[in-house]
Amino acid sequence: MDLSQLLDGLNASQREAVAAPPGHYLVLAGAGSGKTSVLTRRIAYLCTAEGTWPHAILAVTFTNKAAAEMRARVESLLATPHRGMWVGTFHGLANKMLRLHPKESDLAPGFQILDSDDQLRMFKRVHAEMKLDSEQFPPKNSMWLINAWKDEGLRPHSIQVGAHPQEPMMIDIYKAYQAACQRANAVDFAELLLRCQEMLLNYPALLLHYQQRFTHLLVDEFQDTNAVQYAWVRLLAGETGQAFAVGDDDQSIYSWRGARVENMQRFLQDFRASKFSEIRTIRLEQNYRSTRNILSAANAVIANNQARMGKALWSDASEGRLIQLFAAHDEQEEARFIVERIASSIDAGAKRSEHAILYRSNMQSRVLEEALMAKRMAYRVYGGLRFFERAEIKDALAYLRMLVNPNDDVSFERAVATPTRGVGEKTMDTLRAAAKGASMSLWQLLLSQLAMQADSDNADVQQSIRLIGKARTGLKTFSELIIALSEQAQHLELAALIERMLEQSRLLAHYQREEKAEEGRAENLEELVNVARRFEPPPLDQDSDNPELLTPLQSFLAYAALEAGEHQSKPWEDAVQLMTLHAAKGLEFHHVFISGVEEGLFPTQRAVDDGATALEEERRLAYVGITRARQQLTLSYAESRRRYGQMQFQRASRFISEIPSELLEELRPKRRAAGVQAAQTTHASSQFKLGGAVRHPLFGDGVLISAEGHGAYLRVEVRFADVGIKWLQLASSGLRAI
Ligand code: ATP
Ligand code: MG
Repeated sequence: MDLSQLLDGLNASQREAVAAPPGHYLVLAGAGSGKTSVLTRRIAYLCTAEGTWPHAILAVTFTNKAAAEMRARVESLLATPHRGMWVGTFHGLANKMLRLHPKESDLAPGFQILDSDDQLRMFKRVHAEMKLDSEQFPPKNSMWLINAWKDEGLRPHSIQVGAHPQEPMMIDIYKAYQAACQRANAVDFAELLLRCQEMLLNYPALLLHYQQRFTHLLVDEFQDTNAVQYAWVRLLAGETGQAFAVGDDDQSIYSWRGARVENMQRFLQDFRASKFSEIRTIRLEQNYRSTRNILSAANAVIANNQARMGKALWSDASEGRLIQLFAAHDEQEEARFIVERIASSIDAGAKRSEHAILYRSNMQSRVLEEALMAKRMAYRVYGGLRFFERAEIKDALAYLRMLVNPNDDVSFERAVATPTRGVGEKTMDTLRAAAKGASMSLWQLLLSQLAMQADSDNADVQQSIRLIGKARTGLKTFSELIIALSEQAQHLELAALIERMLEQSRLLAHYQREEKAEEGRAENLEELVNVARRFEPPPLDQDSDNPELLTPLQSFLAYAALEAGEHQSKPWEDAVQLMTLHAAKGLEFHHVFISGVEEGLFPTQRAVDDGATALEEERRLAYVGITRARQQLTLSYAESRRRYGQMQFQRASRFISEIPSELLEELRPKRRAAGVQAAQTTHASSQFKLGGAVRHPLFGDGVLISAEGHGAYLRVEVRFADVGIKWLQLASSGLRAI
């Protein structure tokens, strides 16, 4: 591609950025203004116009998907392979650098990268070695804290011990963990970057080599760099490297993982010291992605944030359709609505992949997946495991499988290990060997051992293996738990049984304690109870799908096993895209559905409780979500939602009310909160409350879940225990509050 073609179609500021003379540049611009496009074109420009060698270029971004896209775009612009160019994610490039220098990185060739599951396992082992009480020091918390330290560039010796009483212990854990990783020749994600930075600092010749090599460093999504990532870029740039950073402070959404939006201001100061006099901020103000209505909504929402660098964003696109707002009765209706909308858009000729469903929390995907499956619509969940594949769900299923078949060794191992009950690897090794020797399942062996040890007169006692101390107590309680639950399984309903299991196994408590370390695990377990509650076991008759006469628990487990991998589309299949709002950063879709736009969910309750700073980050996330849409944006919320295993009444998110009402089209105008109050007070018997218990002469007892209209026209929606949901004319219904 020749030069003029490279600049073709760009607006003046975009061209200025692409063809900027040597120097450092910060492209600060709002969503959809062409930051990523400009960055890739700049790479092509440098290679074509300035004769920069591809291998002198380092371009970095945050996700593999974005990196792959960047590579593809550069390749198509250059029409040659980008041989020698370093394009990748921060972690990917650091990994590459470490592997190129085994001596300097102090890592043996072929070192392993620990994913977060492996890392947690490593922390558990370290905690066990240090004989730490896992209640007082949950391994998950250590992992979280130590990762955060690494993201800040901190090593045990450089941590300033503050007021927190656990810090000295955490520092010891950090040291022990590092030693264990070193022995195992393994590094975690945060370590990749920090170690790479330290390697460069420790080996000046190596640093110089890279500084001379990379004359151009380009960073996308710069607002989400953390301390180490920033320091790494700064270090590599040195005196001679030219930095080109593009970002949008309004899209900074990873401060909870150490991202620092201040890096954007720092950039301008820090790089001033280098030999280039040209250091400038370039602003792009035209949005090319979205219709004007979508853009106005995004601008209106983000205007409520105080902490902003300030940007303008306009569009000469058409107004487009209004933003659709749908208030569902509950999360299932919401999911059905979204899927129906997508279906009709597909009928009208759109591709499935032009539709994205975004949500705040991973646990929301479950209901959406169910609705998509019911419609047999191919979908793909990005960045996040599917529901039944998540670790905590697999833990819960392991317990349930034990109730059906205690001789299932895989489930035995999984269940006995979580939550920890003092049964370590050594004990398990002994058990496995003994079970193998006796041709028994682990469960059979355990029972026989416990029986033998209880009965000290037994002549076979010498055959018993040594189960001592904590391990013995742990195994004994475990067996008692499984036996007790198996009995309860005979008469409890499925959902109640799962609840009981989560409670008595302490699995829920275990994940609740770790809540801080990773969001949503406990919620996923509660969601499992909801799934069970909705699950309709096939009838016990031989002509149906259930010829084996499975119990509800057995059918549920079969369903879960099938669900685990079957329904998600193949990678090449045209599929509806599901992902969290976080994972959607940088992407764009024709039709975007943001679901669960409710107070307490989006913004999260934690953000609401934490106050302004946390709320501003949620609002930036809303801005990211809204600006993913090109043609059509649909927001939805559910007025009641099963959360924590219970029906909760939800209110529309504040972010909805921040969108000017003339931009919104309510698909099913419903009473707003104020309307309900009016309705309640105008009715003679104002004892009716949303969420209140009511009794109907025919339908029995229920809960009032919504209302619309007023006076004689007041209609209420009631969820009856026996007959389900019904709408009733309050005045003539015979309904009374109880
Ligand atoms: P985000 O903030 O979401 O990362 P961005 O600023 O990186 O967005 P891009 O993804 O580069 O924006 O561009 C958004 C859309 O606008 C893309 O579809 C891109 O092709 C298009 N676009 C960018 N610049 C122009 C232009 N000058 N003319 C026409 N379309 C453009
Ligand atoms: Mg971008």
